[in-house]
Amino acid sequence: MQRLTGIGVSPGIAIGRAVLLKQNPLVVRFPVKAARVDDEVARLERAKRLSEAQLRGIRTRMNRDASDLGQLFDAQILMLQDPMLLARAIDVVRREQVNAEWALQRALEDVLAIFAEIEDPYLRERRGDVADVVGRLRMNLGYGRAAGRELFRDVEEGSVLIADELTPSMAAQVDWTKFAGFASDTGSRTYHTAILARSLHVPAVVGLGDASGRVLPGSMVVIDGAAGELLIDPPEEEIEATRARSAQWARALRSYEHYRSIPAVTADGLAITIQANVELPDDLLFAQEYGADGVGLYRSEFLLATVSPDELSEDVQYEAYRAMLQRVAPAPVAVRTFDVDEEQLVSWPQGLERGRVGSGGRSRGPLGLRAIRLCLAHRDMFRTQLCALLRAARHGQLRLLLPFVSGIEELREAKVVLREAAEELERRGETVPVVPVGVMIEIPSAAITTDLFAREVDFLSIGTNDLIQYSLAVDRTDARVSRLYEPLHPAVLRTLRHIVRAAARVGTPLALCGEMASDPVLLPLLIGLGLTDFSMSPSAIPVAKQVIRQVRAADMRRIAHHVLRMATIAEIEHYLLASLGDIVRQAGDQALPPDGERVKGTT
Ligand code: PEP
Ligand code: MG
Repeated sequence: MQRLTGIGVSPGIAIGRAVLLKQNPLVVRFPVKAARVDDEVARLERAKRLSEAQLRGIRTRMNRDASDLGQLFDAQILMLQDPMLLARAIDVVRREQVNAEWALQRALEDVLAIFAEIEDPYLRERRGDVADVVGRLRMNLGYGRAAGRELFRDVEEGSVLIADELTPSMAAQVDWTKFAGFASDTGSRTYHTAILARSLHVPAVVGLGDASGRVLPGSMVVIDGAAGELLIDPPEEEIEATRARSAQWARALRSYEHYRSIPAVTADGLAITIQANVELPDDLLFAQEYGADGVGLYRSEFLLATVSPDELSEDVQYEAYRAMLQRVAPAPVAVRTFDVDEEQLVSWPQGLERGRVGSGGRSRGPLGLRAIRLCLAHRDMFRTQLCALLRAARHGQLRLLLPFVSGIEELREAKVVLREAAEELERRGETVPVVPVGVMIEIPSAAITTDLFAREVDFLSIGTNDLIQYSLAVDRTDARVSRLYEPLHPAVLRTLRHIVRAAARVGTPLALCGEMASDPVLLPLLIGLGLTDFSMSPSAIPVAKQVIRQVRAADMRRIAHHVLRMATIAEIEHYLLASLGDIVRQAGDQALPPDGERVKGTT
């Protein structure tokens, strides 16, 4: 047995047979039943026929244009016919009884290994053509945009997904009724995939380094999302012990049930608002079941997980927003406008491989043309989203939330586009309701100028996930630096205090929607800093309520006052755990990763 330790990002236990997913390139391996082997072979043959027809079509066009690039495609047609490739893949399907995609990948690796031995640099460079041919074959095997669901169609229920990287877009598409949990080589606690896992109650461990290289497809694995462990080929006794822990976990969850329907009020009577962060329509079920006071953050870019950017018309968006507003009414829904970068917009749902591949002149990653910047650069797209939102606003309590705003100019420009959208609707004869507009405070420049924003918006929402990463210069998605991602860093706490004071001075409502609020140790401190309005993953709500009902706001203010004078994270952490005592320790033990990880790690 091997025991790998990573970052537990979604509690719970999963036991099952491993299904491997390599997103780079996107290849999944699973066993197929003997009766389905011929179908897999037929898929490969069909893909070959389609690819050949496409390549001949390209060849003919090249001839018409008198281009000498035609020879290149002759060579690709020859590669398609080479037994090393297709015949080899068919052989792998038959011998190993695996799916066509995986067999093709194996054949490609064999061919590339041969190319690597070739001395002649010209011939060696033909590797790119082989990969191109295989890419075409892969495309013609089917799937495309519906990748997640289709790809796992034949996977047996109760499997466990082991991935090199699981991007949020892919995770949003996976049929989780087939998988009991997942583990991945990369990731962190505030990466959107981890947030999604918690929302969906899927046990998950990330940042495991090379798990996808160690686990053999079909082997038995156990995921313990609370301990942050992946066991590979565990003996029967270990599986039994894990089953017992799993039952204990289910009992602990049930014990929280009665907190779902009772209000979040501190022991000394301070009412706290708890709303839900939502990515997928299914999250609404949990949000309502756990008694959320509405939706404090709907990450609307998750619409792109099921619909391509060009198909995301005003009507399609309108329907999605209307359905959500109606379901949540009369409680409010804060829809955050698209928070994607160029790369994600183009490649969704194939995934975001931030900063890995050359960008060809497009800026990528968190500091590039992202969120409000991207929307203002693509005003038609932005106006379409705003028109859809304003139309949907009639069906509930819509609040508009703008992400990644770094200066007042962006807010003002966004409001101009909002006015244009309203005028456009009025021209069409529609009545346009007035919608409250807010901004995310998640960039240090916005935090420092909270007072300026507070005067020009209806509400503010602190995004601690980004605020921490930009304040501390730590990539929140990079497991290698997750140690430095510290919500308890004095700079973070002082920034929060500054935001709270600035918003209060102007009298603008302020909420916090980052993952920090989901942590039972940090939540009382946030209350002590003066926050009373939170939005979190639905699954975190019952524990949050339990903690809130046991603490006194007046004590928390005293604790926060002390903490703000401390210099080191260790000191703060020690003092908090000692002062909050059993209340949060109990909650933490049952709901989140162990203390060390929770407070010091990538919370
Ligand atoms: C945040 O940054 O804290 C936040 C809530 O937004 P996201 O996690 O989607 O970046
Ligand atoms: Mg953010």
